[in-house]
Amino acid sequence: MTAYIPPEFDVVRDFALCVSCRVCEKQCANGVHFFDGKSKKMAADPSKCVNCHRCVCVCPTHALKIVKNPDTYRQNANWSGQSMNEVYRQADTGGVLLSSMGNPSAYPVYFDRILVNASQVTNPPIDPLREPMETAVYLGKKDVEIRRDINGRLVDDLPPQLKLSVPIMFSAMSYGSISYNAHESLARAAEKLGIYYNTGEGGLHRDFYKYSKNTIVQVASGRFGVHAEYLAAAAAIEIKMGQGAKPGIGGHLPGMKISDEVSKTRMIPRGIDAISPAPHHDIYSIEDLRQLIYTIKEATAYLKPVIVKVAAVHNVAAIASGIARSGADIIAIDGFRGGTGAAPTRIRDNVGIPVELALAQVDSRLREEGIRDAVSVVAGGSIRSSADVVKAVALGADACYIGTAALLALGCHLCRSCHTGKCNWGIATQREDLVSRLDPAEGSERLVNLVTAWEREIQEMMGGMGINSIEALKGNRLMLRGVGLNETELKILGISHAGA
Ligand code: SF4
Ligand code: SF4
Repeated sequence: MTAYIPPEFDVVRDFALCVSCRVCEKQCANGVHFFDGKSKKMAADPSKCVNCHRCVCVCPTHALKIVKNPDTYRQNANWSGQSMNEVYRQADTGGVLLSSMGNPSAYPVYFDRILVNASQVTNPPIDPLREPMETAVYLGKKDVEIRRDINGRLVDDLPPQLKLSVPIMFSAMSYGSISYNAHESLARAAEKLGIYYNTGEGGLHRDFYKYSKNTIVQVASGRFGVHAEYLAAAAAIEIKMGQGAKPGIGGHLPGMKISDEVSKTRMIPRGIDAISPAPHHDIYSIEDLRQLIYTIKEATAYLKPVIVKVAAVHNVAAIASGIARSGADIIAIDGFRGGTGAAPTRIRDNVGIPVELALAQVDSRLREEGIRDAVSVVAGGSIRSSADVVKAVALGADACYIGTAALLALGCHLCRSCHTGKCNWGIATQREDLVSRLDPAEGSERLVNLVTAWEREIQEMMGGMGINSIEALKGNRLMLRGVGLNETELKILGISHAGA
């Protein structure tokens, strides 16, 4: 017996508007729409719909609507319809549930419970339209004091730095998980904006070596696509120890997304699930991590900063302290709401901690230990707007990674079906007919627009605070106040309550 699971969504077609042009049928990779020869009308199988909104957006007569299907289970506060569906699915298949994108559960979003200060009267605001406002940042180890040589000249021998025009980078998204055209959009936009995009653990397609000045390459536990040329091509190298969406486990690329090109780039077989190991099998201590960092530095002639990326977990501050001492130039902290191409649902929804808490703890710990300048800190894991960037910087970040927001700019409608490989927007797919729906020229323009808009908003918010540089905002928690937070939360965030 297979359980009957009611469709999550219903397809509503207005037959007064529908002209049976069959555009919806052609556009839906899930095979929902079809022409019913008997009734001579369009029809739908809603059980296959993931609510990606593609058909709604492309229907020339606006005849379609996708609505939530109110299931008729006898739910209660403990057993939701979704929990029941999941049990039925697992009883049918015996399989681990797989999901995409970030944790959708209703845990607190601390960014939404933090407000920003504004200057008035004695400490006036700054007008960003008329006065210079510095949004550029440098990531990497800094000197704690000004050094001069015996002739009194400034010693300027800092380790390699990444210069960002604005404190935003595109977070790791692998070729394989996302399409060639999505990667090209990110690479082109990063180049135009003077920021960086990140290959994730998918290797670097040969066509993208030309964007190397704006490319961060990743070395993850599976070492997919890692070779000397790959390291040499990068502006920086990121060692991925963990990922916010799935702390404690490796990456997963479903086999149906491993095309010939993906297999060549990753140096793995075609069509078979690629699951990278949970640990790096050569790293079981900070000393081991240090060895890998210095192996990479040695292999790249000490010319490139090394980033270590970790998931936000309970002891992240102690881990960050160890990473800072291990020789890394930059630490990336990925919160539990961060997106993914594929993760076990239980891990995604139950493991890790919010990046806001992790970031504040890491910044405090590094300051207490006097090593804050030994390393830069990048925060990621559901940065949704310029306000989140401002709050993250004031909590202690040097810069932020954005992933889901970048995909939304490319057209993603958060249907959370990336793991199926049938992304109707040409983003999280390798099917050529679908990939061609995303034009990299248009995609990169939309990304440039997004980051440019955020940069303007960041300047306005900084101006309102009477601050004219990101450097002066960094870790400036006096500029933040909590609303509706308890004493413990305020203590961890290192901020006062609004009104205090
Ligand atoms: S999966 Fe997307 S394109 Fe297909 S019917 Fe649902 S909303 Fe429309
Ligand atoms: S990238 Fe595509 S498949 Fe993934 S959530 Fe967005 S629209 Fe859906």
